[in-house]
Amino acid sequence: METYMKDKISEQEGYFGIYGGQYIDESLKTEFNNIYSQFLKLKDDEEFQNEFKDLLEHFSCRPTPVYYAKNLSKKTECDIYLKREDLNHTGAHKINHCLGEALLAKKIGKKKVIAETGAGQHGVAMATAAALLGLECDIYMGDVDIKKAMPNVNRMKILGANVISVHSGQKTLKEAVDKAFEAYLNEYETALYAIGSVVGPHPFPSIVEYFQSIVGKEAREQFINMTGGLPDCVIACVGGGSNSIGIFNGFINDKEVEIYGVEPLGKGEKIGENAASLTYGREGIIHGFKCLLLQNEDNTVADAYSVASGLDYPGVGPKHCYLKDIGRVQYKTINDNEAIDAFYELSRTEGIIPALESSHAVAYGLKIAKDYKGKKLLINLSGRGDKDIEFVLENYPRTF
Ligand SMILES: *Cc1c(COP(=O)(O)O)cnc(C)c1O
Repeated sequence: METYMKDKISEQEGYFGIYGGQYIDESLKTEFNNIYSQFLKLKDDEEFQNEFKDLLEHFSCRPTPVYYAKNLSKKTECDIYLKREDLNHTGAHKINHCLGEALLAKKIGKKKVIAETGAGQHGVAMATAAALLGLECDIYMGDVDIKKAMPNVNRMKILGANVISVHSGQKTLKEAVDKAFEAYLNEYETALYAIGSVVGPHPFPSIVEYFQSIVGKEAREQFINMTGGLPDCVIACVGGGSNSIGIFNGFINDKEVEIYGVEPLGKGEKIGENAASLTYGREGIIHGFKCLLLQNEDNTVADAYSVASGLDYPGVGPKHCYLKDIGRVQYKTINDNEAIDAFYELSRTEGIIPALESSHAVAYGLKIAKDYKGKKLLINLSGRGDKDIEFVLENYPRTF
């Protein structure tokens, strides 16, 4: 058990079972493989490690605490613990891999980072890391998203990033990724593509996973220190899959720990109404890698939808597809309304306003609580809800 995860996954470079790979232009393969070998060298380099650790500690306030949610625990008769990624600088776990990617870019001599963003969360975290490390930063964002997420667009501008609006197709995340890749093709000698989750062609899923693994590493140690043992289950929401893989990695070899990944069911089970790629997707290729992908009957990529815009990607990280196939992680769904209920519940019982994305994980914890009486649940609170407040009050108001 200790070794089967690691060995099987690294056996065939860039593949997780049948998923992952590099479905890209030949001209980019050399560059990507070069980035990977430099990354592998750097991650074992003491100076790089110390710099990364210093940024995480002093810039992003790591380690983030594991918090015992006393009120919620009393109410549910379970012991509920939250890994507080919401307390990171810029409000979510994304800064972990953005600092890593920006540091990597700098160390391998790139002057610029190029990234896509949906609701602007990855864009803001990337622009933040780029400002800190003195890199230029181009952020590609769909025109529809730009209009919806103006505060984040303004943040990126203040941070000195160049926000490039994308007008093709649905004018949202998928097209932003297409455009960012296109731009990168012309600039790869001087720029690094800094992807927003554990997706994309090899080596990006592995690089982002590496930087996010700090979450699980800390959480396991903290949990043992607090309780003297391991949690009975670990729960995290899955969009592209970075916060979840980060916390899962801390527990993946502890076979007594059940692991749940929570996908957004949005408005329902029909294709187009949700973004539950692992639940309703079929094998397919998007943005240079193979995964379980939401597709229409004619095999075109389906629209993805969730009330949490950070979760509405039609594909999902290749390692999650593999973890599903081998049965190590169980993937479940939570719909919009259940997520909104959990958003209010955590706010009102614990005084913590969660991101709508993270609310999916909280909602799943609350849903299974009746079957876990007396057991210990660890939920990854991937981000805070400041960005969602206006939207929730306008669309899902609750009487006080
Ligand atoms: C972006 C985001 C997510 C989804 O991304 P993953 O790569 O699946 O983690 C989840 N939670 C928050 C708060 C986010 O900003």
